[in-house]
Amino acid sequence: MTTDAAGATAPRSLLDLTLAELEREFVVAGLSPLHARALWRALHHGLKQDFSDATDFLPPLRRWVAQQVGGERRFFIEAPNQTADIASTDRLTRKFLLRLADGQTIETVVMGFKGRHTACLSTQAGCAMGCVFCATGQMGFVRHLRPGEIVAQVRHAQLALHAAGSEGLRNLVLMGMGEPLHNYDSVMTALEIITDRRGLNIGPSRITISTVGVVPGILRLAMERRPYHLAVSLHGATEAERSALVPASQRWPLAELMAACRSYFARTGRRIFFEWTLIAGANDSPAQAERLGVLLTGLDAHVNLIPLNPTDGFTGTATPSAVAKAFQQVLQTAGIPSTIRQRRGIDVAAGCGQLRADKFRMSRPVLG
Ligand code: SAH
Ligand code: SF4
Repeated sequence: MTTDAAGATAPRSLLDLTLAELEREFVVAGLSPLHARALWRALHHGLKQDFSDATDFLPPLRRWVAQQVGGERRFFIEAPNQTADIASTDRLTRKFLLRLADGQTIETVVMGFKGRHTACLSTQAGCAMGCVFCATGQMGFVRHLRPGEIVAQVRHAQLALHAAGSEGLRNLVLMGMGEPLHNYDSVMTALEIITDRRGLNIGPSRITISTVGVVPGILRLAMERRPYHLAVSLHGATEAERSALVPASQRWPLAELMAACRSYFARTGRRIFFEWTLIAGANDSPAQAERLGVLLTGLDAHVNLIPLNPTDGFTGTATPSAVAKAFQQVLQTAGIPSTIRQRRGIDVAAGCGQLRADKFRMSRPVLG
């Protein structure tokens, strides 16, 4: 429970808690941690939105729920309000607009085929990093999301997939609204909850954290040996070119960022994904591809090339497909593997803060 300036206490989201924290709550209340585990299963495995039909709860747990969630309202079950559910024209991507308790709206995207669905999660409302081509950056920063608000997006996506008769999620990418490493602690707590085998059970190797290049966060991921994939949004291979697109490069310059990536690789031995939004005439020339190849030499790198998804606040246009292929060819010659993402493919769709509703038509989604 949190206390505001007037001394009033606000209920706490049950989804903010890890299993260890939930167990502690029960032990402090003089109850067995086994009840915490039953509650955890109902929340994260059963995906319960309320406990009225939780007939397997033993009487002490039922009493705890009646008191703590009901009567005293120390806790609540996070369930953001869905304000829109929009399917892409190819019906492979579905975007949810979710309204949080304080009225902020975030986006969660689910994409892919049966059995291979990926959800793209938001980690902040807005973003402080101000990348010039990004719709979320153009909004500015509103606030960090709590762990429960990140976990709730996974639950929402799972429930939607189940309702469509589909298998659950396979992969998660933290490529929605916001900069995950600017909200490090909440993101790590959320991922601890999401990967728990007794709950949502999404394997850490199926999760990718995408960062604009928050150097302290990258070093911390390596130090703490976090088991997730790392993607770094580069977009420029010289300081001047990168800073023009990514203002955060002035705070964590390209040289420092690459040093952090090398140190991450030295410590973890992990491949790093580099994202490159292809903008016609800005960062898509063969010379720029060559410089990128040099920059990544010695790393186990994979480059994801993402043709720009136009946004209202930026006049740039997407690189034509032939130019993207030529860029890729230069990288290949330099020995750097890369993938050109479809415009409505994973990365573009995954940059869910970047999806504009007018690119979608309202329809009954058919994921599954
Ligand atoms: N803040 C993190 C994660 C969210 S953005 C980051 O920047 O990495 C996820 C990806 O979408 C980033 O690689 C970002 O550069 C890319 N992106 C943002 N706006 C885009 C746009 N309009 N078109 C194509 N990719 C975009
Ligand atoms: Fe923030 Fe990522 Fe958008 Fe940059 S691209 S403004 S870091 S969400």
